[in-house]
Amino acid sequence: MSNVTIPEGAYPAIIGGERIFTAQSIEVIDPATGKVFATVARCGETEVDQAVAAARKAFNKSWRLTTAAERARLLSRFAQVISEHADELAALESRDTGKPMRQAKIDVAFSVRYFEYYSHMAEAVFGSVIPAATDRFTFTTREAYGVTGHIIPWNYPLGIASRTLAPALAAGNCCVLKPAEQAPLSSVRIAELALVAGFPAGVLNVVPGLGSEAGAALSGHSGIDHVSFTGSVPVGRKIAEAAAKNLIPAALELGGKSPNIVLADADLDLATPVVASAILQNAGQTCSAGARLLVHRDVHDDLVSRLKGIFARATIGAGKTDPDLGPVISALQHQRVSELVDIGRGEAMLVHGGRRPAGAEYEEGYFIEPTLFDNVAPGATIAQREIFGPVLTVTSFSDLDEAVEIANGTDYGLVTGVWTRNIGRANWLIRELHCGQVMVNTFSNGVELPFGGRKKSGYGVEKGYDALLAFTHVKGAVVVMSKD
Ligand code: NAD
Repeated sequence: MSNVTIPEGAYPAIIGGERIFTAQSIEVIDPATGKVFATVARCGETEVDQAVAAARKAFNKSWRLTTAAERARLLSRFAQVISEHADELAALESRDTGKPMRQAKIDVAFSVRYFEYYSHMAEAVFGSVIPAATDRFTFTTREAYGVTGHIIPWNYPLGIASRTLAPALAAGNCCVLKPAEQAPLSSVRIAELALVAGFPAGVLNVVPGLGSEAGAALSGHSGIDHVSFTGSVPVGRKIAEAAAKNLIPAALELGGKSPNIVLADADLDLATPVVASAILQNAGQTCSAGARLLVHRDVHDDLVSRLKGIFARATIGAGKTDPDLGPVISALQHQRVSELVDIGRGEAMLVHGGRRPAGAEYEEGYFIEPTLFDNVAPGATIAQREIFGPVLTVTSFSDLDEAVEIANGTDYGLVTGVWTRNIGRANWLIRELHCGQVMVNTFSNGVELPFGGRKKSGYGVEKGYDALLAFTHVKGAVVVMSKD
């Protein structure tokens, strides 16, 4: 890793296989220092038009007619090329987002796995033969949408780009990706690597730019057939409105306020480190972060004291030093998190953290201590709002009905962790929880399990086989049989 040099300087858009530099550019900031270390193209309507046209051309000219086997081979080769560039991509991602190096390496491994998984799945998209009239052959096929738009956030740029692109490409779509302005570089790099892997020009295009410019131009473009978005609720609403105007489907992944529910019979040795990492990973900037701990009264004191120890020992620093916690992404995000922590001080008991860490090395970057609030009322602002920082709220419950009521009592419904040795209770909770995914005695899921929100966490599905099908239309066909 120490030999890896991250190219500094200007990063382009990738449109129709070409590296396109725009007259204006966006400065890319290292969150650990607050200093600019690169610039990236600032695409607007013109470049988005060009990218959508390039994607359409590639779709009509060749991609539409590739076999699933050819797409599978290309996706597999892409996984290989990404893997060969793992060190470079991890270093770039860590610098761009501030995340610890080992997290960036995990993100690269996930990226590889997404392309590998969907290379396997590409050949498993079938229609059905339907028993209807006996003088007709009645069947369905599944077809790609055509051109798909993908707008992603800054928290896991490489992971989320791969999560949404891999099934879209496997299903036979050509893609236009708009990365977040705060962390766009790995998206540009993987589009370059897609060309190295042998994808035809125009199959994967990347248009870095501001949300209000490139993002709005892409989501409102009449030339796209489907839009996938991961990010905030207010922007998700705008994407849904734009999709409704064009009458195209949208998949929205909008974050959450996900709980870990720890029952009295839970194995605390197993649960404690995972409950901590579920909120400290990526400095809490994870849509499925375990942001609320709901704990049975009988084990409350024990668990909170264990968590306090972990939070106090957590190391904080620039991503490249591989601490437990890097900075948050931007000055704005630091301010948002700090404001919510200040609200929390008036609402609950601050057990640990809550400030910028002391020391000269923390003055420039966007660092914030791991923060633990106890005695948090279920309706408190910090128990309801998505903080998107390393802030865990603790609320106790006395029985399972109360736990479910609190768990379901937010506007969100993304994932839930359940910690118990009782299989009956685990299954009862799986049925009662209003969310897209439940994890029992773990907080990790993998690329194979479908993932998608309820309520304000959005709609649509990512990951797993279902995400692949979601990038296709069903076409029905009926053919009258005749002997002559
Ligand atoms: P955001 O929703 O503003 O940005 C996400 C993406 O949407 C970026 O690529 C952005 O450029 C683009 N975008 C912004 N405005 C747009 C528009 N009008 N039209 C089309 N695209 C547009 O998210 P943010 O401001 O970076 O973060 C704010 C909050 O969102 C966070 O504090 C957090 O609560 C939430 N968030 C959630 C996730 C998640 O994974 N679900 C990720 C990042 C942020």
